Amino acid sequence: MPFAFPPAPQPSVAITDCVERFPVRRVFCVGRNYRKHAVEMGHDPDREPPFFFSKPADAVVDCTPTVSACVPYPPLTQQLHHEVELVVAIGAGGRNLSPSDALAHIYGYTVGVDLTRRDLQAAAKAARRPWDWGKAFDHSAPVGALRTVAGVGHTHSERIWLKVDGDVRQDADLGELIWKVPEVLAFLSRSVALEAGDLVFTGTPAGVGPIVAGQHVRAGVEGVAELGFTVGAPV
Ligand code: MN
Repeated sequence: MPFAFPPAPQPSVAITDCVERFPVRRVFCVGRNYRKHAVEMGHDPDREPPFFFSKPADAVVDCTPTVSACVPYPPLTQQLHHEVELVVAIGAGGRNLSPSDALAHIYGYTVGVDLTRRDLQAAAKAARRPWDWGKAFDHSAPVGALRTVAGVGHTHSERIWLKVDGDVRQDADLGELIWKVPEVLAFLSRSVALEAGDLVFTGTPAGVGPIVAGQHVRAGVEGVAELGFTVGAPV
């Protein structure tokens, strides 16, 4: 059956040392997963079950440092915040995974920034409305190139960091994750069937803060991936 008009291009992420690209199906994000960030946002840091929100697949921006990516400053906000996160790429689908099964479903890892319109998110929280307009806007998911599990193994306690114009804003250790990657995937797979192509942002450590047009953001998970982008003029 023909389409009424050409379908949108398939969103994708580069894979380090590979000519093929990773086709993105969905983008899931964990809300709070580092103790100090939960505290800085005014929440109890106890180990409550993880909760999730999502972004559109086409919010992904390829920000491999060699690409010189530009992320336009989004509309409707005066408070665009950076949140650096470990991103897990799913290579094989599944539902109701146990934490011990979950690692076998991972294709690879990279670093991403869960860009957030913090003022819109705060207004939504206050009004008990959904977070979508705070989180799920265009270009809201910059990511670096993926590293495959075959190439880099699984992550444990690597350093995760983000700099704005060279100043360190976020600096933590993946060992500080409240819910580890296998547990996050186990929880998520009870709510939806995971599919190959899904990306999972695993939550941000403390130090989130504002960025403005003209600033350069650089972020990484040590030994895994780096990304870089410049914040462009408002759209
Ligand atoms: Mn986040």
